[in-house]
Amino acid sequence: MYIDLILRNKSRFADMIFTYKVPDNMEEKIMVGHRVSLPFGKSNKPTEAFVVRKRDRLGQDDIEPDKIKVIFEILDVEPMLSKENIRLIAWIRNRYMCTYMDALNLFYPKGYKLEAKKVEEDGQVIWTYTDKKNEKKISYLSLKYGLEEIDQMISENKYRLGLKQEEIIKFLSSNESVEYKTLMEILGVSSQSIKSLVDKDFLNVEELDYYRKSDSKFKIYSKEVSLNKDQLYVVDHIKKDFPLENKKPFLLHGVTGSGKTEVYMELIEYSLNQGLDSILLVPEIALTPQMISRVKARFGEIVGVFHSGLSEGQKHDVYREIKNGNIRVIIGTRSAIFLPFRSLGLIIIDEEHDMSYNSEMTPKYSTIEVARYMSLKHHVTLLMGSATPSVSDYYRAQEGEYTLLELNKRANERAMPDIKIVDMKYEMNRGSRSEISKSLEDEIVKTVESGNQAILFLNRRGYASFVTCRECGHVIKCKNCDISLTYHKFKNKGVCHYCGHEELIPDTCPQCSSTNIGTLGLGTEKIEEYINKKYPSIRTLRIDKDTTSRKGQLESILSQFNRQDADVLIGTQILSKGHDFENVTLVGIISADMMLNYPDFRSFEQTYQLITQVAGRAGRGQKKGHVILQTYNVDHFAIRHAVNYDYKSFYQDEIRLRRAFGYEPFNNMFRIVFSGKNYNIVKNNAAKFIETVKYLLESQSIEVKGILGPNECSINRINDRYRWQVIIKDEVMDIRRIKSMLRYICISKFDQIFDKNVNINIEINPNSFI
Ligand code: ADP
Ligand code: ZN
Ligand code: ZN
Repeated sequence: MYIDLILRNKSRFADMIFTYKVPDNMEEKIMVGHRVSLPFGKSNKPTEAFVVRKRDRLGQDDIEPDKIKVIFEILDVEPMLSKENIRLIAWIRNRYMCTYMDALNLFYPKGYKLEAKKVEEDGQVIWTYTDKKNEKKISYLSLKYGLEEIDQMISENKYRLGLKQEEIIKFLSSNESVEYKTLMEILGVSSQSIKSLVDKDFLNVEELDYYRKSDSKFKIYSKEVSLNKDQLYVVDHIKKDFPLENKKPFLLHGVTGSGKTEVYMELIEYSLNQGLDSILLVPEIALTPQMISRVKARFGEIVGVFHSGLSEGQKHDVYREIKNGNIRVIIGTRSAIFLPFRSLGLIIIDEEHDMSYNSEMTPKYSTIEVARYMSLKHHVTLLMGSATPSVSDYYRAQEGEYTLLELNKRANERAMPDIKIVDMKYEMNRGSRSEISKSLEDEIVKTVESGNQAILFLNRRGYASFVTCRECGHVIKCKNCDISLTYHKFKNKGVCHYCGHEELIPDTCPQCSSTNIGTLGLGTEKIEEYINKKYPSIRTLRIDKDTTSRKGQLESILSQFNRQDADVLIGTQILSKGHDFENVTLVGIISADMMLNYPDFRSFEQTYQLITQVAGRAGRGQKKGHVILQTYNVDHFAIRHAVNYDYKSFYQDEIRLRRAFGYEPFNNMFRIVFSGKNYNIVKNNAAKFIETVKYLLESQSIEVKGILGPNECSINRINDRYRWQVIIKDEVMDIRRIKSMLRYICISKFDQIFDKNVNINIEINPNSFI
């Protein structure tokens, strides 16, 4: 028998399917998805591989039978991958232009690892290997015989036991089974004393599985809710989808507080009743403690949590608990979609517009696309929910690709908070230079005086965005990147937000030696300082990457604010998601323009989403909330529609622009970034790429259209690497043709076309074009 395999090998050249022979005695046991060890390469190095197909004979294209090698052994009892996983791996490799191994790593906990090393034996160096499994076991000890028998053994064998060892035996004679570590602690004995008793055959050692739990601090709260008419309609509609073979994804457009989470839970329950498992995806775990506690309160022990903050060991244990059926519902971030549920019935993607659903690491997959694939091919019901759906997904719903469902009212019937615009142009013309307008400042004071809390949102951390010379205008830039340093007053340093480089701000201008160095622009630190200086009695907290980089800091700030240990919470994007603060009645958006002017075709959409999401933090409890939004662009459609909570009008305006410029969802965009330390080499390689593309297209008589570049990236140097890019849209060319062309040029012919010091990165529909 022969098997086709994917190898665990990083080399570009190993990114193919290999064929090996199976020894006769393994033919019965081996299954598709099994992890095996096999000899690879000239030196026959022991290597890990995954079976993707079993077959009885070789085909014409295969290598000759006597050259085919034989595998060593099967490494696990159960196959690691399902047949569905293997098909999805092939799909991901093709869709996101990565290697088999990149795709496979998504499905497979890092805890398993085959380690090969060479050892000398009889003057020859041979390979040996061990298969490491990160499965934590706990040793339990118990007495193997009764006390009398033990006494007998001691006298027969003339054993002499130490005092400590006698103590151990006595202790175990009155306890059934005790954990190894506990025994050492309680009796103060060494592992040596225990081991010698084991060697003398007095003790039983039993290794039991131990499941590392993440340190969960979620308080459980439970509230009985009976669904309202709108919620029931949505739930009933989706329930009807469960038995259907042909699935169509659902897009649930529900305003913040409309009771989407209640809908999710009802569907999870229904799914469980059908014997099916559920995946509930959220953008960020730390920001959804309330949702987790609600789901846990309702479904108890069968709910697991999975995200990148878990240790590899913890991830591994969740993985196993899913495999053995102890976990039936997972709440997790994007990678949770690959967890090995045996009978998955439902995938819910909450806040489906969130950018975190697009992976920024290879493979750069879109969770929504993967979920769509699973819905279609594995017949899983898919529900995507958001108060501000992505324009692309809303378009698909309009086109009939998704079923659109709506929840237009807040569940508690309360109105959405009013959003009032402050025209900063007008403020400036009045002579005000302050970043916080008078009306916002007055509202903050009023809010705090009445015992309520306020949130101030600004999507830039640090103190000021630029450090400049007031004489010559020189801006201090990062030494590694083409980007100005952000001034962080707390550290008194300039910090690069791309590579992390920090440096002291010089006293004199490097250009003109003037000592008149100052800062420009605005960050969260400066807002906090302004309030602290002017209103010492107002207690502030700040939440951004600088204040939450260590584990637990984010949770700690959030709970302080929840306990009302502070009056004003100042922060970046992190603030826009999930939080439910009962006492917040004012939200201030310091600058809508920073989002609006971001150089990306999605910036209007993101502005609309951020305003709506941040505004949704106000007035969640019993008290009415309101929002003040500062902007220089009062007439911009993204702002106008956000202020009216008019998603549909925003969508109409935005989709018109997208259509006119041929952006998503009308085309796919490939972004090919060339980077390297030498400017000219990078530039020439980008040019060579375009030449090759044109040559190939012309030789096939295909019109050269929809190709932009080569251009320098808008940040043309990051981490001391120069960056050039080419963008290809699938306007005229079929997407498959573009992909096979990119694969051919950038992978197969890389060595012939490009300099080996140049790195090529290909993304499809990337999050950012910076
Ligand atoms: P969303 O997820 O859309 O933001 P939630 O499900 O969190 O909305 O609901 C918002 C609030 O309304 C929660 O406090 C929730 O308990 C409450 N709620 C939801 N549905 C109902 C209902 N049918 N009756 C009463 N309260 C509800
Ligand atoms: Zn100067
Ligand atoms: Zn930098």
